[in-house]
Amino acid sequence: RSVPPAEALALAPGLSPHGLRGGLLAYDGALVDDARLVVSLARTAASFGARILTRLSASSLSADRVSVVDGVSGDAFDIHARQVINATGVWAGTLTGSVRLRPSLGSHLVLAPGTVPMGTTSVNIGVPGETNRFVFLLPQPDGRVYLGLTDEPVAGAIPDVPSVPESDVDFLLALASSVLDRPLTRADVAGSYAGLRPLVEGSGGRSADLSRKHAVLAGSDGLLTVVGGKLTTYRRMAEDAVDAAIRLAGLAVTPCRTAWLPLLGAAPRAELSLVDAPARLVARYGTEAPRVAALGELDAEFAAPVAPGTEITAAEVVWAVRNEGALDVSDVLERRTRLALIPADAEAARARVAELVDKSLAGLA
Ligand SMILES: Cc1cc2nc3c(=O)[nH]c(=O)nc-3n(C[C@H](O)[C@H](O)[C@H](O)COP(=O)(O)OP(=O)(O)OC[C@H]3O[C@@H](n4cnc5c(N)ncnc54)[C@H](O)[C@@H]3O)c2cc1C
Repeated sequence: RSVPPAEALALAPGLSPHGLRGGLLAYDGALVDDARLVVSLARTAASFGARILTRLSASSLSADRVSVVDGVSGDAFDIHARQVINATGVWAGTLTGSVRLRPSLGSHLVLAPGTVPMGTTSVNIGVPGETNRFVFLLPQPDGRVYLGLTDEPVAGAIPDVPSVPESDVDFLLALASSVLDRPLTRADVAGSYAGLRPLVEGSGGRSADLSRKHAVLAGSDGLLTVVGGKLTTYRRMAEDAVDAAIRLAGLAVTPCRTAWLPLLGAAPRAELSLVDAPARLVARYGTEAPRVAALGELDAEFAAPVAPGTEITAAEVVWAVRNEGALDVSDVLERRTRLALIPADAEAARARVAELVDKSLAGLA
């Protein structure tokens, strides 16, 4: 629905009132932290018997065999399966010749809490001269704001961690500043990150116009690849890939167990509102929040944040090691929490997190 300027300003107080004629208000999916979703998904699968092996790098794939190198021990070995599915995202084409991707770089800037007065409503800004491209200011539960996103085709080798081009920083700051009361400068950028969209080669056109739909592709060698898509369509992608695997490998069909399966920690909103734990932990851990909070009750030190300026507690680090397979500091800073998106926050927390990881791993040994 359309909202008058006063309501737009109440929802997003950082907007400039000058020339503001109103806004369009819509509701969309809201994710607390994509790392939490992926970890919960892996743990849920493990609870049904899946084996989750991290730190393994696949060097070659075939229909029924994966050659891997263990990044911890350095050992190389093969894993056999009735059907192998290549689900390596934008890297899928490095392991099979049957996939052609057009990677597209999406850059984000991270603004520290308090940089832009934002409330909880995100702001989408139309890119001038375009009909279907937007830049967003996306407030996070911890007060950070993500400013994104670009969509530029890239050629050449796929890097492990893509970097943010200077031109993207300028583009994002300029477009956001055009609607904000206080223009942003480079001094406001506390961190940045980029990702490569694995867009499936289509009928030409710009990367921004390529379909975000996923594809399940069978190579002539019998290897299956699932690629493209969206985080929000992950289950449909998995369903299509498993259906294709059943057909291709002639696997026995059993009733689907996951169509309505809640992930670990998930519960209806009404049930979550009754969970006896701090709201921030419930948002991140759902029904498991009391177990995380209990670590802090056992030892008051665990209830304290790991560094000034963050709400992540020592208990969450211990939980990440004990329950979520974190093996080192970077797992915690980058893949169980999002502390590393602001390098200064990661540095402030690093020593304490290292101490907690070491102690927790020793406790598990
Ligand atoms: C910039 C950007 C913005 C996006 N915005 C949205 C959005 O707003 N909404 C939305 O729904 N989706 C969005 N997406 C899409 C979403 O992130 C992807 O669809 C999703 O991550 C794809 O999941 P995947 O499992 O196929 O691939 P990935 O998440 O890329 O996972 C592939 C995994 O394979 C691993 N891997 C690669 N090579 C090897 C190897 N040789 N051996 C072992 N492991 C390997 C990688 O380390 C990685 O963990 C966005 C993507 C990008 C890049």
